Amino acid sequence: MNLLEIAERPSPNYGRRDEPMRIDMLVLHYTGMTTAAAALDRLCDPAARVSAHYLVDEDGAIWRLVSETRRAFHAGRSCWAGEHDLNRVSIGIEIVNPGHQWGYRPFPEQQMAAVEALCRDLVSRFSIPPHGVVGHSDIAPDRKSDPGELFDWARLARAGIGVWPPAGAETARGRGRGVGLLERAASLADLAMIGYRVTPGSEAVALTAFQRRFRPERWDGRLDAETAQRLAEVRAAYDRARRH
Ligand SMILES: [Zn+2]
Repeated sequence: MNLLEIAERPSPNYGRRDEPMRIDMLVLHYTGMTTAAAALDRLCDPAARVSAHYLVDEDGAIWRLVSETRRAFHAGRSCWAGEHDLNRVSIGIEIVNPGHQWGYRPFPEQQMAAVEALCRDLVSRFSIPPHGVVGHSDIAPDRKSDPGELFDWARLARAGIGVWPPAGAETARGRGRGVGLLERAASLADLAMIGYRVTPGSEAVALTAFQRRFRPERWDGRLDAETAQRLAEVRAAYDRARRH
């Protein structure tokens, strides 16, 4: 039974999914526009060639733009855990927020409750594993910073959506303190094993994306001892999730 109230706002921007259909990821975004109406208009504008399956407004209203059985255009050039065609395997959710460009602000409770309910339903119907739930910045860290450091991933994880291990007591002591070369190599390996694309020269953008999501107090792209410890914790949690 589906108790979610969802309004229809069909977008012409979609494609076919491959057969057999595979959906095992969720990609969360913010709209990055000044109003929900402007975002809906753009996501339904054939000239824009962008869309998402759902949009969640700040008051908790949910809109369906593209059927789950179709491919929406939300991920763009992206990569996660070796998968390069994220639109093929995912459901995309746009969460209304002006974003870093237009006045980034906290996501209201009604909105988070709706996001949680929608994700819970999708995770359950498609058996989306915790390690398949990502933010746009996780899969395109060089271009994107959504949904950003104010997004409450811990709350979703408590509802069984995504991976977000609590930080250990030790972790907080290492903020700002540098790490040695060996530890740096191990940390970059952790980053790649979690799913981030790490290539020579791109380490700082991948680290920034990781920090936005898992150590949101500071996202400077620097590998300090706190980030290294957090990487080890998060990698262990992803390893556990993938073994299930
Ligand atoms: Zn996005």
